[in-house]
Amino acid sequence: MAAVPPAALTTGETVPSSFTFDPSVANFNVPLDAYLKTSPALQGICVGAFVFDDANRLLLVQRAPHDSYPLRWEVPGGAADAEDESLLHGLAREVWEETGLRTRHVSGLVGKGYTFLTRRPLCVCKYSFVVDVEAFDVKLDPNEHAAFLWVTEDEAKAGKCGDVDLTTANPSLTLTRYLFNSTSDPSTFRLSASPLQPTNTTTTSPPAIDVAMFLQRSALAVARRAAVAPVARRTFAASVARRDAKNVEPKASVGQKMKAFEEIKSEEDLIGPGAAPGTVPTDLDQSTGLERLEILGKMQGVDIFDMRPLDASRRGTLDNPIIVKSAGDEQYAGCTGSPADSHVVTWLGMSRERPMERCPECGSVYKMEYVGPADDGHGHHDHHHGHEEPKTFADFVKPQYW
Ligand SMILES: [Zn+2]
Repeated sequence: MAAVPPAALTTGETVPSSFTFDPSVANFNVPLDAYLKTSPALQGICVGAFVFDDANRLLLVQRAPHDSYPLRWEVPGGAADAEDESLLHGLAREVWEETGLRTRHVSGLVGKGYTFLTRRPLCVCKYSFVVDVEAFDVKLDPNEHAAFLWVTEDEAKAGKCGDVDLTTANPSLTLTRYLFNSTSDPSTFRLSASPLQPTNTTTTSPPAIDVAMFLQRSALAVARRAAVAPVARRTFAASVARRDAKNVEPKASVGQKMKAFEEIKSEEDLIGPGAAPGTVPTDLDQSTGLERLEILGKMQGVDIFDMRPLDASRRGTLDNPIIVKSAGDEQYAGCTGSPADSHVVTWLGMSRERPMERCPECGSVYKMEYVGPADDGHGHHDHHHGHEEPKTFADFVKPQYW
């Protein structure tokens, strides 16, 4: 019976490893460690899979309700492991673990890499690939995903499949822009997922890190500085005063090229071009500073103030609180319970000194996570004047009741 393969192979219980791949993705046929050595700025690699069925519909999976970004839609994928034979093997493993589908061929890279910071924080690049599979019998891992859908191009562009809203982890972007890491909606679904120009397969260097992402981050850094640093605030006020003064050449003359979001490098870039003489200026013509950065961001689908509602899918606990990010020293957050709107809004105040708060109505615990600029050593003057936090009832609870 030597010709019979091991039972594990016939039942498909092993990670697929006998797949083939297009030469254009040969750069990714290396182990994680080797890849990261050639990209010192990165600390991890994520891989995503665009699986199309025979009707050219794209496979989407919905994140589990207990996971981060609960019930949001995405393509299958995850982090490449050091144990994976290569990044492509990590891709095949993730597809198999999450959907039960077996990779037959990796036929191309989708767009380019997308670099982002994780919560830890680690600098991670995500690459997505078009993956051909052996069969389309999806079997989800209920720990990771709640549902799956095969969506047509029209459904993906509409962000809706029947009654289902295809909301992603970034609701400010359309589904296709989110999936394709694109600044505009791809004009053709399948073509956008295939490399239009084959990459030079003789080079061993990985594709360049997405520069636009870093520009976006530096623009946000400008916004944070402007929001909390007194020096930056004065600069903004001074800029406005100069524009108001008579007989002074404005910094940005009418008709100059409108700066796009990714071109914003300093506060000086956040002055609008003004309106043509005799016309009424729009907000886009005349807004300055943070308002301008917000408008420019919105025009490109970037929500610079992160206006998404807080996670209300669960009740926060001391061990696992609901995280509230703040660029300033204090942050107020409104709790309406879990699920959202279970009780009237209760406002909770958190600070860097007292980051944790518990909602007196429903008991949910919130924690402020400071994401503002690093201390320059000049803040927190109150400590020098013997200031003490006012006592609360918690200070009088006997130790045996803790
Ligand atoms: Zn509450």
